Amino acid sequence: MQRAERKEAAQASDASEVAVAWPLVPTRPPEGVAESDWTDWGWQMRHRIRDVASLREWIDPTPDEEQAIEALARRFRFVITPYYASLMSRTDPDCPIRRQVVPRMDELGDRAGLSDPLGEVAHSPVKNVIRVYPDRIAFCVNNECALYCRYCLRKRMVGDEEWTMQKRELERALEWIAATPAIRDVLLTGGDPLVFSDARLEWLLERLRAIPHVELIRLGTRLPVTLPFRVTEALCAMLERFHPIWVNTHFNHPRELTADAARACDRLLRAGIPVGNQSVLLRGINDSLPVMQGLCETLVRMRVRPYYVYQAQLLEGTAHFRVPIEDGIELFRRMRGRTSGFAIPQYVLDTPHGKVPLDHPFAKGREGDDFVVETWDGAIWREPNPR
Ligand SMILES: *Cc1c(COP(=O)(O)O)cnc(C)c1O
Ligand code: SF4
Repeated sequence: MQRAERKEAAQASDASEVAVAWPLVPTRPPEGVAESDWTDWGWQMRHRIRDVASLREWIDPTPDEEQAIEALARRFRFVITPYYASLMSRTDPDCPIRRQVVPRMDELGDRAGLSDPLGEVAHSPVKNVIRVYPDRIAFCVNNECALYCRYCLRKRMVGDEEWTMQKRELERALEWIAATPAIRDVLLTGGDPLVFSDARLEWLLERLRAIPHVELIRLGTRLPVTLPFRVTEALCAMLERFHPIWVNTHFNHPRELTADAARACDRLLRAGIPVGNQSVLLRGINDSLPVMQGLCETLVRMRVRPYYVYQAQLLEGTAHFRVPIEDGIELFRRMRGRTSGFAIPQYVLDTPHGKVPLDHPFAKGREGDDFVVETWDGAIWREPNPR
């Protein structure tokens, strides 16, 4: 009981954080930066924040953050786009945007975490192809992202030279896909496939489309969130030639929903590309009902479908982000019936055998000729269902 009360209190204080401005507001360049530079993705990539000195232009780092940037420099790269940095609170170290990208000493105090909890390396038939299902694969086409998320599942490879995907290696993976007719669905991931130039991505899509058994091509990209100016009209016109293309992006918090991000999603949608969203459930960032519901409802207003929310993996340096699974199940149970059905994502646990849905057990089971279920508002319903 006491625990339940504490939870309610925590959620009440979170509610003030949710406030999503609608219509969504665009970001503004800082003084001295032209609008045309700010909205140019090349400019954003060249001006990324990589050290404490440039971080200070955006926030007042705490001693803990400064120490962590020093201590972690070589283990997991610290990189932030100016666009994403402009969403951070200057003064609040618990800002949900800041916590996703600025290192903390907590990352060094995690004893349980592993470097490859899903055994992805073991599930690679060819370098950078991960296969856990018979019919579909995750194809890590590069190891570059616009910025590096502190809880990243692919920490072991992003930004690391050893994993850089040379064209020759891409060719080898494409040959494997061409020689494996069971593969009908190819998910391009990384890293982030949209860090590629239009020309390189076009080359890759042409090669994939030349394989007759590849029915579906999906892109997993966080650039609509971290660098929305990457989604240009030219990119969308190119992608459109390779339909069916689906995109999944990765918003974690309502504060990431800016007019710039909404425009990026709208451009993809106008090119006929269905856009879904995958989040990671992160403690103190999006594990409360107002935040998660605010995120999902606003995504739906943007016509972006909440698809999956991942349980954070047992990954090194991420203990401070993990939520007990029971609390995650309860969070999504509480959304059921209280918002549009398609605003409710599937909460999943990724395992070396694939994704497992983590659902509240609404179906209670059989009692004689009845099948007993729990309804969203907690009532018990007996559905006559003789066998
Ligand atoms: C998530 C994932 C997929 C795609 O799974 P869906 O449930 O179809 O979205 C495919 N391969 C791997 C390795 C994955 O992790
Ligand atoms: S964008 Fe995705 S792959 Fe890149 S660092 Fe973030 S979570 Fe990892």
